[in-house]
Amino acid sequence: MNSKPPLVPLVRPALGEAEVDNAARVIRSGWVTQGPEVLAFERELATWLDTPHAAAVANCTVALELALRTLGVGPGDEVITASHSFVATANAIVAVSAKPVFVDVVAATWGLDPLLIEPAITSRTKAILVVHQLGLPCDILAIVDVANRFGLAVVEDAACAIGSEICVEGRWEKIGRPRGHIACFSFHPRKVLTTGDGGLLTTRDPVLDARFRLLRQHAMSISDVKRHSSDEIVFEEYLEPAFNHRMTDLQAAIGRSQLARLDATISERRRLAQIYADALVDNAVFVAPADPPSARSNWQSYPVKIRPGVKLSQREIMQLFLAAGIATKRGVSNSHQEPAYRDGQRARFGALPVSEHLRDDVVLLPLFHGMSGSEQSRVTAVCAALHEEEKSSR
Ligand SMILES: *Cc1c(COP(=O)(O)O)cnc(C)c1O
Repeated sequence: MNSKPPLVPLVRPALGEAEVDNAARVIRSGWVTQGPEVLAFERELATWLDTPHAAAVANCTVALELALRTLGVGPGDEVITASHSFVATANAIVAVSAKPVFVDVVAATWGLDPLLIEPAITSRTKAILVVHQLGLPCDILAIVDVANRFGLAVVEDAACAIGSEICVEGRWEKIGRPRGHIACFSFHPRKVLTTGDGGLLTTRDPVLDARFRLLRQHAMSISDVKRHSSDEIVFEEYLEPAFNHRMTDLQAAIGRSQLARLDATISERRRLAQIYADALVDNAVFVAPADPPSARSNWQSYPVKIRPGVKLSQREIMQLFLAAGIATKRGVSNSHQEPAYRDGQRARFGALPVSEHLRDDVVLLPLFHGMSGSEQSRVTAVCAALHEEEKSSR
């Protein structure tokens, strides 16, 4: 019999009995939409991230949109951002009728190049939307410096970066306190903590936090939790046009179980990343990623760069992994190369050589908490075979 080994997936969400029990508890309580569980999840996240305010929403895409809207970004404004990101980053800017201005990234951090931001600023620039791509922190301190000099708002797309850290004046802190005005996280199953779908906005500004809470729930003057628990009849009012961006209590209950294990999850991912790094020393095909200076990744993804001059193409390399039963993904996409943006109507951009290099010369290897030693060995075995083949072909 020819039984193929099971596929090593790129990611396998780690959902267990704790999540099942917590979700069941919420179902039995009879309150399933945004309520006490969301509030508890927000408080636990704020403590874990060491930030004063955390507001949960339906996903990170709407978190980004809400962040920009709350900062007053609107028609005619420009927002400087990375093309090298999941397309939701650019789409959030277009969703508030503003224009993305794509700036290139630094290959070492995968994030916006602080030196390229100033030349892209115009009288219409309102904000900078940075991305902590794949969990690798961008050079946020240098970018905040530029923003402060020009009076610009900074939003951090931290979709992938829960638990990633930067070192500030000798002290480690988590991404999302935040250093910019607002940070946005995603709880999609592809990320390090999942609630199925889900998002979070963090800020140090109580006024912004109050705006998030109002606008995520139709700008309703009194929350339904308060209304239901009041001894007196109260009529709510709708203060301005807004929308429904709520997270549900079912999602929050799952998230609370995930959060209780998050420290262990991140340690495990860092251990797996170190095994890859050790296995890839002097590999003739791949360069292992490294933590950016003064930063620590949560290793949401494990992106390896294909060395210049390697005989096999990115596609051929990915095909060989697939033939060995291993899922991979090419480098992060670039919005300026997607049909939605490439004609230049909706965004402004010049040459973005580093972004294009990072899409076309990078392969994401499987890395997820719960990955077994034998699964990871199958991946490193293919890396070693590719190395031997490359060496013998020279
Ligand atoms: C996943 C992701 C998003 C979108 O998050 P959702 O919660 O799926 O809306 C936005 N930006 C980046 C960089 C992402 O990786």
